[in-house]
Amino acid sequence: MLPRRHHELPPTAGLPLRLGDLLSGAATLAAQVAAQLGTPPLQLECSGTASLLIALTALHELQPLRHQVVIPAFTCPLVAIAVHQAGLEVKLCDLRAGHYDMDPVALQAACNEQTLAIVPTHLGGRVANVDAALAAARAVGAYVIEDAAQALGARHDGRSVGLLGDVGFFSLAAGKGLSIYEGGLLLARDPLLRDRLARTAARIVPRSIGWECRRSLELLGYAALYRPRGLRLAYGNPLRRALRRGDPISAVGDDFPLTVPLHRVGRWRQAVGAHAAARLPAFLDQLSAQTQRRLPRLRRIDGIEVQDDPPGAHGSWPFLLLLLPDQQRRDAALAQLWQAGLGVSRLYIHALPDYAYLADVVPAQHVPHARDFAARSLSISNSPWVTDEDFEAICGALEAFG
Ligand SMILES: *Cc1c(COP(=O)(O)O)cnc(C)c1O
Repeated sequence: MLPRRHHELPPTAGLPLRLGDLLSGAATLAAQVAAQLGTPPLQLECSGTASLLIALTALHELQPLRHQVVIPAFTCPLVAIAVHQAGLEVKLCDLRAGHYDMDPVALQAACNEQTLAIVPTHLGGRVANVDAALAAARAVGAYVIEDAAQALGARHDGRSVGLLGDVGFFSLAAGKGLSIYEGGLLLARDPLLRDRLARTAARIVPRSIGWECRRSLELLGYAALYRPRGLRLAYGNPLRRALRRGDPISAVGDDFPLTVPLHRVGRWRQAVGAHAAARLPAFLDQLSAQTQRRLPRLRRIDGIEVQDDPPGAHGSWPFLLLLLPDQQRRDAALAQLWQAGLGVSRLYIHALPDYAYLADVVPAQHVPHARDFAARSLSISNSPWVTDEDFEAICGALEAFG
């Protein structure tokens, strides 16, 4: 294992908060991000998962006889949880071999007149094939919801992701770029649909002083600890404890509750997000430039494949997502790197059918490509705190296993 250092790099590139962000101010977060991204008005919700749940609820009202939602078999467990909490049924679609996208043939096969929506996912900021999802959806009369939870700032043909499908959502959770500890932004191209999403939220999302107090305290803790020294306490030490217990699912934070809270986001957290959002465009540019410098170095390593965007797309870069030739070499690389504090981690531990705790939420389904992706992938943080020296140490270790 590489020697441990005094500080700890985060697994993703979150925008660090500053003391001044915590002062009160105008609650203009959603309007500000919409202006920066060039989108229609964005709807702020209490999490990415809540945003998806609201979108599903609104679409189900339009198509009450449809109750299946097609999602990738390798994605965040919260996506399946949102479908379940909306009273709908998860239908999995396997990935393309060695690729983050859903397989277009499997996607068509997964859709029928019961399909309410398909959820193409911009995994790790990589731009998904939304056109394939639209084609499959239109063929059966279903909707497309773009999961852009990890892709704030990603663009396709010059436009923000989330506008090609019917609905899209971004996450503002801890570690996901811009964060108010937990939050989400909903977007929709069509004004009538935007109006529906707003009305659905007004009906089903209550105020909760308890939840807002809790999230405000969590946001203060995040502001204090999201830096290389604090992260050792808040992230690195719990990670290493979980790995020592043989519990990789809690090490990466894949163990979610089976229902998520729904509540409105208070003005103070919106103001904090609005202050930080002023630095978002420059931060995203910095991450993109760092990636363009580092990708060629990674590509020179034999046997390693880096997930990249399709032509015309410019994704966001919270981390670099890699595939190694087989699970054995991936695990050997992680044995060197996962606990080294260098920001190397795994994205999700399993394909969705392989989480025991999701047994009532996710159908048992044969998804070999998703399982292969889970077994061979690892992530390298694209945080600006990962120095060129850190990155070279990671590449050196990977060279031994590619
Ligand atoms: C984090 C995440 C979500 C859920 O967003 P939250 O804001 O954490 O609720 C959904 N999909 C993907 C791909 C994610 O990474």
